[in-house]
Amino acid sequence: MTPPKTVLQILLGLTLAVPCAGAADHEFSACINHLRAQALQRGISKATFDTYAASLEPDMSVLGSLDAQPEFTTPIWDYLAALVDEERVEDGRAMLTQWSDVLRQVEARFEVDAATVVAVWGVESNFGRSLGKKPLLTSLGTLSCMGRRQNYFRGEFLDTLKIIDEGHIPPERLTGSWAGAFGQTQFMPSTFLRIAVDFDGDGRRDLVDSVPDALASTANFLHKGGWRRGETWGFEVKLPAGFDASVAGRRNKHPMSVWVSRGVKLANGGALPVEGPDRALLLPAGKEGPAFLVGKNFDVIYGYNAAESYALAIAHLSDRLRGGSVFSTPWPTDDPGISRAERRELQRLLISLGYDIGEPDGMVGTKTRRAIAEEQKALGFNPDGRAARRILDALRERVPVESGK
Ligand code: CA
Repeated sequence: MTPPKTVLQILLGLTLAVPCAGAADHEFSACINHLRAQALQRGISKATFDTYAASLEPDMSVLGSLDAQPEFTTPIWDYLAALVDEERVEDGRAMLTQWSDVLRQVEARFEVDAATVVAVWGVESNFGRSLGKKPLLTSLGTLSCMGRRQNYFRGEFLDTLKIIDEGHIPPERLTGSWAGAFGQTQFMPSTFLRIAVDFDGDGRRDLVDSVPDALASTANFLHKGGWRRGETWGFEVKLPAGFDASVAGRRNKHPMSVWVSRGVKLANGGALPVEGPDRALLLPAGKEGPAFLVGKNFDVIYGYNAAESYALAIAHLSDRLRGGSVFSTPWPTDDPGISRAERRELQRLLISLGYDIGEPDGMVGTKTRRAIAEEQKALGFNPDGRAARRILDALRERVPVESGK
């Protein structure tokens, strides 16, 4: 869940680095070697530091990511359309079956249900398929010595060395996001040291190559965050006409009787239960969009990655994995978001029109968004660069034959 960097920022990073490359390299290795004493203090062996840290070279691209300002905005309906699409629901159900024995043992030990654990796994790493490709020590070493948050990243850098030193994960398997989130759970190294568990019993906590370790570690994170077994994260509701939306907000919890008295109903129009734990009203897109009553377990998911849209994606995916349906109130837009399969189709259409946007991988990066904005301009649409229904439909008409694909 890291913001994409712009081409300009990558170029800036590179050009700034070039004129004083020799001096910068020297400064960088001096900075890294300055951390040696701290590493040894933490019990990291000299051999580990000298083998994996001492001769690192910086990766300037991570500094661009650190300072990236999003060029385009992503409305919540686009975010959810890609994270909770039919493909991920099907994949998740297959994983629930494939790993049912492990998930049963995980639930017995950590008291977190299988659908929630698998939903986190699906959103964090697409069930272990997208782990991030940046070598962790290089990214974190660079961020430890350059940029805005060096103190924070030094801790993560040293924790990475600790993970290697303790033999949990081979260094060449430690790749991740530019900011150092890695493995099937996308934990930061400090989170790994606090939370990760060895569940397959081989003595190593391996969140990269062991699915049982990854599933158990996710459950342990939620367990330590205060997960309440048997309690739902929340549910969709309907608001009465003229509802005063100022009572909304994730922290604004009230007894169910308060929501009943304000005229809130179940999404199907039925009466709310009066009993049950206190809940807050979540309105991710204002009172015209889907509305939810959320409780403690929603906050626990939020703790995994502090964004309400993220927590809602996991909560909703977990419901879909249990057989639940899509939201009954549509998002307040006349141009809805599209699935990853449709994003790939849109990218193929753009490629057939001559845009150089790389592989049609369903990941909507800056190149894809710029190409979409070009086409939107040509069609007289608002050039917001969104991969969404209207531009997909327009390009389907414009490119009727998809060259045999
Ligand atoms: Ca293990």
